Amino acid sequence: MADNTDLGGKLALVTGGGRGIGRAVSLALARLGASVAINYSGSEAAAAETRKLIRERGGRAEIFRADVSDFKLCEEMFARVEDTLGGVDILVNNAGITRDGLLVRMTPEEFTAVLNVNLFGAFTCLKLASRYMIKKRWGRVVSIASVAGLVGNAGQANYAASKAGVIALTKSAARELGRRGITVNAVAPGFIETDMTAPLGGDIRAEMLKNIPENRFGAPEDVAAAVIFLCSEGAAYITGQTLAVDGGMTMGG
Ligand code: NAP
Repeated sequence: MADNTDLGGKLALVTGGGRGIGRAVSLALARLGASVAINYSGSEAAAAETRKLIRERGGRAEIFRADVSDFKLCEEMFARVEDTLGGVDILVNNAGITRDGLLVRMTPEEFTAVLNVNLFGAFTCLKLASRYMIKKRWGRVVSIASVAGLVGNAGQANYAASKAGVIALTKSAARELGRRGITVNAVAPGFIETDMTAPLGGDIRAEMLKNIPENRFGAPEDVAAAVIFLCSEGAAYITGQTLAVDGGMTMGG
């Protein structure tokens, strides 16, 4: 029987794949045999380090700079990826930012900046990647949403709206692309230890921990495990879903 988790011969593009959750996803996909196109926007050293880690383990990876909120730059990036590694089979929309603040104080710039990276960036890469997947009649798209997109979060109206948008984008794309052998899913992490959550203070952490049945914050690898499952052959009949990886925090909320 063929190994359901073997991604040998596949090319995966991971946006924001150089650090945090994106790095864990890039490493996990490479471990299963996929070649990895690591996208980054500012953190070149981190992206190069992720590439190095993959190559040291015998994998194939290249790094590609592009701000995912810029459609033109993404078009150019996909062309460079195609020239260097080939057409994308697996897309992981992971790039994301926060600009937290209470609604009354949130500026229009803070709102649109988050929407542009988190939602427009996901749309752009999904649109550009689907061309290759449709031709091959095979594809996997996994977007990193958030539990904030499921249940909302005070101080994160922009972020929560962007992630709810990612979930709806996922469902719509799944309906459009299902007939073509392409699955489109989302993963909704809870509280994961990365640079994004590092600034949160001890009292906020203690309060959050009370609502996590697993009684710990997640690691990037916890999210990567869900992503690689959804990219595997074994997940061929799962599409349009949002899988919460949150230690039980939301439980289908
Ligand atoms: P992180 O450590 O802050 O990393 C963010 C990643 O996004 C970096 O690789 C960054 O690359 C990339 N990025 C940001 N803006 C970009 C842009 N305009 N174009 C391309 N790449 C861009 O955050 P993380 O915790 O790993 O988050 C990864 C994803 O998980 C995000 O979508 C986030 O919303 C989601 N998430 C995280 C948590 C959590 O608790 N950590 C919870 C729920 C959801 P550069 O540095 O090169 O710009």
